[in-house]
Parts: sequence; C-alpha cells; structure tokens
Amino acid sequence: MYQDIILDHYRKPHNRAEQLDDEDTHVHHSNPLCGDEMDLRIRVRDGRLDAVVFSGDGCSISQASASAMTQAVAGRELADVLDLSENFRQMMHGEEPPRIDDLEDGIAFQGVARFPVRVKCALLSWMAVKDAVETYSSGDSDHEVAHDA
Ligand code: ZN
Repeated sequence: MYQDIILDHYRKPHNRAEQLDDEDTHVHHSNPLCGDEMDLRIRVRDGRLDAVVFSGDGCSISQASASAMTQAVAGRELADVLDLSENFRQMMHGEEPPRIDDLEDGIAFQGVARFPVRVKCALLSWMAVKDAVETYSSGDSDHEVAHDA
C-alpha cells in the first residue's frame, strides 16, 4: 500500500514546477551519493508557506518524497514546517516521531529507513524545505547545499 503511494507521487507529482510567481527563496540541494538534484522554491505570506514547488532530476524515491513533502507542508506556518521536517528526519532514522500522522503521505517513506543508502534520497526535499525556511528567515533569497558523506 505504501509502495503504491510512493509510485503514485512519482508518476503524478504534485507541485512540480520550474518557476514560482513572486518567489521569495530558492534553494538547490544535491545528494551526490545517488545523483539527486533538487530545486525548491517557496513563497511566504503572513508567516505561512503560501506556495512551495520543486523541480530537478533524481531517483524515484527523491522525486516522490518531494511531491509528498510539498503537499504536507503547503499552507503551514513556518515554525510548523520546520517541526514537520524534524519529525520526518526522526522517522527516517528509525524513530517514531510525535507528529508522524501530520507527515500525511510522507509516512509512506517510513519503510525506506531500512535502506540506509536510500535514506538521503527520501530526506533530500525535507532538508531542502527546512533550509529554504531558514534562508528566508535570515533574509537571503537563495542557498546551495550538497549533502555528501
Ligand atoms: Zn536518490
């Protein structure tokens, strides 16, 4: 069942776009281990994540996780987005985070935690959205991060 959710997000990704009108912050994250590339753009209004889109190339796990992530965080307050990102990170490290249900379809990636080599793929977009919110909050408009080693 979880496998179906992942496949569905991979085949019909949500919030996949190369542009975002009135974009506030753009981050680029890469996972050299797998070759995943992720561009994430956010627009913030009244302290909330008004819009979030992703683009880039990568394995099915990284792309599907990004689609599920954007659905789970869109419309939320920035502090809430950071908290969910932390909950997802904990889940991918085999823990049972307090807000696992709020991860929405992100919960489908819980099984990926058993495959250490794929954990970074699933985490990539969630680390990117955390970075985008922090970059926005620090007043910058773009940031680039490579998750190697
Ligand atoms: Zn990957």
